[in-house]
Amino acid sequence: MPDPESLKTNFQKILSSKKQELNLLLQKLIRIRSYTGEEKQIVEFIIEKMKTFGFDEAYSDGLGNAVGRMGNGPVKILYDAHIDTVKVTEEENWKYPPFEGKILGDKIYGRGAVDEKPAMAGYLTAGAVLKEQSATTKLPFTLYVVGSVMEEDIDGYPLLHLIEKEGIRPDYVLLGEPTDLRVYRGQRGRMEMDISVFGKSAHGAHNQEGINAIYKMLSVVGEIEKLDQSLPVVEPLGKGSITVSQITSQAPSLCSVPDFARIHIDRRLTLKEDQDKAVGELKSILKKTGVEGTIDVPRYSARSWKGTVAEQEAFFPTWLLEEEHSLVRAGLKTAEMVSGKKSPSGTWSFSTNGVATAGRLGIPTIGFAPGKEELSHSDREELFLPDLLKATEFYSLFPFVLCDSL
Ligand SMILES: [Zn+2]
Repeated sequence: MPDPESLKTNFQKILSSKKQELNLLLQKLIRIRSYTGEEKQIVEFIIEKMKTFGFDEAYSDGLGNAVGRMGNGPVKILYDAHIDTVKVTEEENWKYPPFEGKILGDKIYGRGAVDEKPAMAGYLTAGAVLKEQSATTKLPFTLYVVGSVMEEDIDGYPLLHLIEKEGIRPDYVLLGEPTDLRVYRGQRGRMEMDISVFGKSAHGAHNQEGINAIYKMLSVVGEIEKLDQSLPVVEPLGKGSITVSQITSQAPSLCSVPDFARIHIDRRLTLKEDQDKAVGELKSILKKTGVEGTIDVPRYSARSWKGTVAEQEAFFPTWLLEEEHSLVRAGLKTAEMVSGKKSPSGTWSFSTNGVATAGRLGIPTIGFAPGKEELSHSDREELFLPDLLKATEFYSLFPFVLCDSL
């Protein structure tokens, strides 16, 4: 295998002639609207590009993910970029139309310009680079490029499906969620929970005959607010959190005492926090307040664009890969090679498909991509295009650096 430094020089040369094409590819991906569950058109576009760029295989799997394969070597690496986006709700706030992919100077604007279409543009172009390289070098790896669907609603599930139901078992996973060209190695997990309490209905004119389920719930809500303040900080992921995100109730009429109330809870989980701990905390609150209630972890269920049902409980485990892991080290080395500077590894605040690959399945996972995480889901999504080129260099070079280090 040629040494990584000479590969870098070679890849930079190839990529300098593809710069314009790379930017226009990202623009095209932004122009294809791909809300969660509506990814058919973009999946077909990606598969077509994979074929044009010389991938050895390109197809959509049973769920509807776009899957491409390059090479046949023993080290199996999976590059994932979810290609669904959240919706545009306030179009009037955008500087430029969100599906135009406006390029102005060094920047591109639009929904998905950060989260996370740049990674897919980079992966596809890196595939074309690797195809050129494979004419003279036998690739020492198998690279799967996955455009995953439904991630914004059910993070992790698309890769869980691919790995458990489609027989693709990678040794290493790279995620294309925005990291601003740093190597990320973990994230807080999350889960949702419901608490339901029951009362006794009565006419509002005789409320002393009833038991008001809302009043019972109030003390529970107060304790949850206190719990949020007391959750521990565990570095490097920081503090978990708990938020009551919705209250619903039920009464025979609006002139009656409600006999039912339910709260919906968003719980972010740091290290050493799991489902048992989170449910246990709520059980303690019910005990302390003397409120009889039930605690549930809701199940999420939706249909993919292919009509396949995706279903799992709303629990997405925390994960963190140690700094010294060979995957992190290879990532940091590649990042330094393409950016010319050393940067420390980091972690995401939000959730990613790593909840499945690393959190559930224990497959070493990192992330690297251009773009600022805090712009995700906002009307300010924009990308500095020179960073897209650097990321594409990274995606081309990284498999060689990794194989070289093993
Ligand atoms: Zn994302």
